[in-house]
Amino acid sequence: MQQGAESLKRELQSLFNRAKLPTGPAVAARILALIDDPSSTSAQFGEVIEADAALAGRLLEMANSEMYQQSVPITTIHRAVTLIGLRQLRLLVLGFELVNHVGRLGEGPFDIQSFWQESLLRASLSQEIAACVVPSLADEAFVVGLLQDCGIPMLIQILGRGYAELFAAHRGSPPTFHAHEQRFFPYSHVDAISALSSIWKLPACIRDPLGMQHERRTLGKKPTTTELLGAVSYLVGSIGFFADDQDRSVDPGLRDYARRELHLTDEDLEESLSSSAERYRAITALFEAALPQDFDITELLAEAKRRFAIEAADLQRDLRSVQNDLARLVTERSNLAQALAQYRERASADPLTGILNRGALVEMTDNCLRLATEQKLPVAAYFLDIDGFKRINDEFGHAAGDQVLKDVSDTIVQTLGDAIVGRYGGEEFVAVIPGVTGGRAEELGEALVRAVRHGWPQGPDVPRSVTCSLGVVWAAPESVQASGPLFSAADELMYAAKRKGKNCLCFGAFDARRPVCLYPSEVAAVDQPVTAPQPESDHSGASFEDLRRAVDVLDGEKLTAVVEQRKHERQSLLSPCVLCCFADPTLRLHSENAYARNISPGGLAVVVARRLARGDLVEITIEYGRKRLYLAGCVAYCRRLDSGVHDVGIQLAQQSHQPVFSDDPVHAAHNIDWIAQALDQRYSNWRDFRASA
Ligand code: GH3
Ligand code: MG
Ligand code: MG
Repeated sequence: MQQGAESLKRELQSLFNRAKLPTGPAVAARILALIDDPSSTSAQFGEVIEADAALAGRLLEMANSEMYQQSVPITTIHRAVTLIGLRQLRLLVLGFELVNHVGRLGEGPFDIQSFWQESLLRASLSQEIAACVVPSLADEAFVVGLLQDCGIPMLIQILGRGYAELFAAHRGSPPTFHAHEQRFFPYSHVDAISALSSIWKLPACIRDPLGMQHERRTLGKKPTTTELLGAVSYLVGSIGFFADDQDRSVDPGLRDYARRELHLTDEDLEESLSSSAERYRAITALFEAALPQDFDITELLAEAKRRFAIEAADLQRDLRSVQNDLARLVTERSNLAQALAQYRERASADPLTGILNRGALVEMTDNCLRLATEQKLPVAAYFLDIDGFKRINDEFGHAAGDQVLKDVSDTIVQTLGDAIVGRYGGEEFVAVIPGVTGGRAEELGEALVRAVRHGWPQGPDVPRSVTCSLGVVWAAPESVQASGPLFSAADELMYAAKRKGKNCLCFGAFDARRPVCLYPSEVAAVDQPVTAPQPESDHSGASFEDLRRAVDVLDGEKLTAVVEQRKHERQSLLSPCVLCCFADPTLRLHSENAYARNISPGGLAVVVARRLARGDLVEITIEYGRKRLYLAGCVAYCRRLDSGVHDVGIQLAQQSHQPVFSDDPVHAAHNIDWIAQALDQRYSNWRDFRASA
């Protein structure tokens, strides 16, 4: 580049020689010397100017113009110099001299007059804008604007017709012209004016901004005055004043640039355009020789404004395209989210059965437990393992085994309704249900074991019977926080069911202190046939025979089948018993004959004439041998059977060989916590009775 600059300087020197011009304009050279000397006076400037008659005449004309509004005519150069001001004057004169000098080169295929119009307008606009942005260099801005394009007529001399044609073709858009000249020619007009500035030894505050005129610079927080003037020069240098409808490639960000880097509002720009017209008119006298006589500045300005308007339209278009891009991005993002959701769904599903895989099961259960704790809901968990599954594979093949897995999975989903259901491992499944009572949880478990056993289609490639072992754990509200301990408890209960002989379930309440609480513990001891004396039937609704019939109605053949298959467990449990319950909040007791139809580690089902309510406290007395077992708990459900008998599920809380509350209800209600709590929930006013008692 350095070499290029040197060769350009040599070409420019030879150009001046050919045109028989001194390298620097004589007056300008002297004026530049005065500018460099801080002690120079207006008198010294006056002397230099008086030596050039044409310049002196124009200066007087200018001092007498409207701009200076003098009532008495200015007749001496000295007074004109004082009036115009030393600073403005030296730059004006410098500009005039340089333009005159360059103007003498401007021949050939080039309209020099309109070129100077444009340069002068650019100079005026540059000065106006600089007055807002960098006032200390407003006058320098005038010279910068004036000289910005001075390289063009010189390069036309050096580079010939092609360059002139390129300029003519892109006159409406200086940035486009500059891009093309850089691409197709060895020098650009920026190189030319930079070389000329160096030949003429122009001060840095003029030379540097001239070099920056086509650089879109981002200004830092504290730009120097030269950088600011460079930005003004870029802004002013990018405006095309001459309309050319083929070339509408105006820099679309120009207004934006003015706003962002120079803090100029649209109104500021409008204002500068208008004021520059006045300034232009005021100083045309000085440059008269270079300008056409019948020249209307308003046309040029109108064009400049139109250019800004096009730009505004471009900005609108840009804005619309940004909005379109945004809309597209939003759509893309939602597509992506959908795809991600689908992927997650696929990633969380077990490919064989379609239910949750283990990872998703754990994640969903943990979420469910969090919510259940927040809402103080109990939770039930089921751990199901297919019995003898290895043999099914061995006997019927893996495809049949897979089919069994799918069918068992479907059965779980159908039987447990809204449960979270997942495949835990090979032939192990886990389900979780929030918000069910212990009684309901156990019932559902029993239904599941039955459904797996009975719901099996017969066919050549399907095993004749499939059974499962099920562990059911019921966790009271806020007793369990994470899936790990809950699943372990259910798993342990499932193994207990395997140990009991498979094809059955084990039910237990979750206890954080012990992994699983299998209760009542004494139930296991109730294994001899009960030959209990039949309690007197003191209720009017149903006879003892009614109750026996009701048991049959209740479970029909299915119950018989269960009894058949689980004789060992069930035999002793279909037994007469006495049910005792609180009749009202005064702690008065009611007792009547009932029939225990089923008992499991966590609960008891009895058939009884009395209609009970959910939450009622009951105590069941079962006699066996010479012993009595007292089982106490709360009613979980009460279903009406026919002939005035009810099927009642009881969630057991305590068992003993002594009465729990049936012989001394007041003492029990006041001294056994769970009874007091249950009464609180059942009878909101029982404490009032206690207080008054
Ligand atoms: P138990 O009654 O004690 O549960 O015995 P089991 O045979 O069911 O249990 P065991 O753990 O011995 O065998 C489980 C078998 O399940 C072993 C394995 O080959 C089979 N298995 C695991 N995953 C799949 C599967 O995706 N498809 C098929 N067809 N078989 C599987
Ligand atoms: Mg297994
Ligand atoms: Mg198994």
